Amino acid sequence: MPEIIDGDFQEKSSNHEDVFDQIERLKKETDTVILAHYYQEDDIQDIADFIGDSLDLSRKAQSAKEKRILFCGVHFMAETAKILNPEKTVLVPDMKAGCSLADNCKPNEFQAFIEAHPDHLVISYINCSADVKAMSDIIVTSSNAVQIVDALPRSQKIIFAPDKYLGAWVAKQTGRHDMILWEGSCIVHENFSHKQLVKLRVQHNDAKIIAHPECPQELLNEADFIGSTRKLLNFISEDESQKYIILTEAGIIHQMKKSQPHKDFIAGLTEDESCHCNLCPFMRLNTLEKVHNALITNEPQIHLPEETRIRAEKSLLKMLELS
Ligand code: 13P
Ligand code: SF4
Repeated sequence: MPEIIDGDFQEKSSNHEDVFDQIERLKKETDTVILAHYYQEDDIQDIADFIGDSLDLSRKAQSAKEKRILFCGVHFMAETAKILNPEKTVLVPDMKAGCSLADNCKPNEFQAFIEAHPDHLVISYINCSADVKAMSDIIVTSSNAVQIVDALPRSQKIIFAPDKYLGAWVAKQTGRHDMILWEGSCIVHENFSHKQLVKLRVQHNDAKIIAHPECPQELLNEADFIGSTRKLLNFISEDESQKYIILTEAGIIHQMKKSQPHKDFIAGLTEDESCHCNLCPFMRLNTLEKVHNALITNEPQIHLPEETRIRAEKSLLKMLELS
């Protein structure tokens, strides 16, 4: 481990360039790989070794060769990396980086929900805690949920948790209208305003609307393309249009601009245009300063009871095997 440098972040990092250089050096010295989600602030995306959606990041965490993983995303993502890599140190810049979906699906309530629906296969979106993963049969992400559900026998009864909007979209895509949905939602995607979207569409009538399936159906009905963050990125690079209205966390626009600098990307709006509610407050708890601190202090680390980890790993490996 390198020595802890005295002084606060401002003194340690006399200018912006220095911080980037220091992080690069610390990564090498401590054999750390930095994985980041597309919803991280631009600077964090730029210092990451790998950026991806939840499925890509799980795969990358599974194959990581480094001794330490610094996961720049929210808690359930870092926890997933730890489930798949019990022998590695897994760090998250801010332990308080939660998620409205994971936080509102409490293990004891979820257990009661499962017991109220015997004979149902339990499919959980990766945006849930290790305890909920441990109670699930198969984990899915927004990239593979339709494919995994579609491959199950039609007679199989299913519980889908914790995102009711993603669940409703999967039910619609697969024709499984009897899926039982947990009543959870993402505070970012559910807050995009339909009224604002209609206004944006009039203002930019040459733009395509692309949306994440965590959005409510009313918004998805307006979309020209629906997919996970990686699928949205792939779409804008393969599609011929020049302009897009983006209904997902606005952090992804950083990669969209890098990939297609000549195209225009317009962030979807919430009712109150001035509130920046299209940014995830949990993801945005992570800062470059906290990334730097985590590299130096080797904290905060993810720890998990081994029994929970083993059970959660089973449902995660099932997903990785099926996708
Ligand atoms: P994906 O990156 O899998 O599309 O998920 C989006 C999300 O909300 C992550 O928290
Ligand atoms: Fe959770 Fe939504 Fe934030 Fe993703 S964007 S971490 S689903 S609150």
